[in-house]
Amino acid sequence: MSQTPIDVALIADMLDLQKQERLPHAILLVAPFGFALKGNAKAIAKSLLCQQQSANGCGACKPCQAFENQSHGDYRRLAQAEGKASIGVDQVREACDFVAQTSGYGDLKLLIVDGADKITVPAANALLKTLEEPQGNSLILLTAEFSWALPATIRSRCQQRIIKPPARELLEAFLTNSGQGSVSSAVSDYELLRMAAYAEHSRPQFFQLADSILDALITQQIDVSQAYSQLDKTDTLETVNSLLHATESTCARESDAPNTSRLLALLELQQVLGAVLRRLRLGSTPAKEGLIYQICTLIAQVGRGDLAAVAESKRLLGINT
Ligand SMILES: [Zn+2]
Repeated sequence: MSQTPIDVALIADMLDLQKQERLPHAILLVAPFGFALKGNAKAIAKSLLCQQQSANGCGACKPCQAFENQSHGDYRRLAQAEGKASIGVDQVREACDFVAQTSGYGDLKLLIVDGADKITVPAANALLKTLEEPQGNSLILLTAEFSWALPATIRSRCQQRIIKPPARELLEAFLTNSGQGSVSSAVSDYELLRMAAYAEHSRPQFFQLADSILDALITQQIDVSQAYSQLDKTDTLETVNSLLHATESTCARESDAPNTSRLLALLELQQVLGAVLRRLRLGSTPAKEGLIYQICTLIAQVGRGDLAAVAESKRLLGINT
């Protein structure tokens, strides 16, 4: 995997804030399509912990070396554990204890919460306590692909920063280095960013499949059974997640299209998939294949702009957003 492009302006801004001792205690990092979130969060952490306060770390000072050896005592990264769908309360409590301890280097304590939108409700409550009573010189850096999936109480405690999409040539280089071959100049900047976000994912095939099936089902080129048979059913959560990504980009594409009822239905679909995804992560909805079939049915209804049928499907799925 090639290195993700870094938002240098954002890092410079963070370093400035640190020099002026105006660094906030909590930052929520978001990015279009969630591209390069992890890479940027790590680069910000490394820059702020560097003794030289050098962008992306000088690489030579003690903290930089400790950071690279993953032995920096004032830095911790929290993410969902292997094989888990969400970040649990025990993980968060432990991380919050870490933030509360005195800094080993006598300076900044930094915690990254990667995929904060995958946090369970009890874990969010535990995190909220720390966000409400920030400790000394500490920074909690949250990243979220779907920032709306975070509880409003958490969002309101964070300063939100958006990672700027990298320049076209950087995205092209990233895709080439990721083994995607060269990119046609006819591909729009928007599509290019989306391709890069997919390439960054550990299982890009889920996204490509979800994209093409959503499109074919919405435009009625295939029916519900065909869509169902083509979708990957080995990992329900990942399939719902990739359908949600595909829906978000379809919404963005259709936002100025004249078909209002379809756009409304698409926005409904986005909400429903978001709610289903949250439930799957919390384990309150079993990840069974029937769910994928119900979602395919819903997508076909969205394609027809049939809002009454969409409402009925929502009821069947037990979603009342
Ligand atoms: Zn350094």
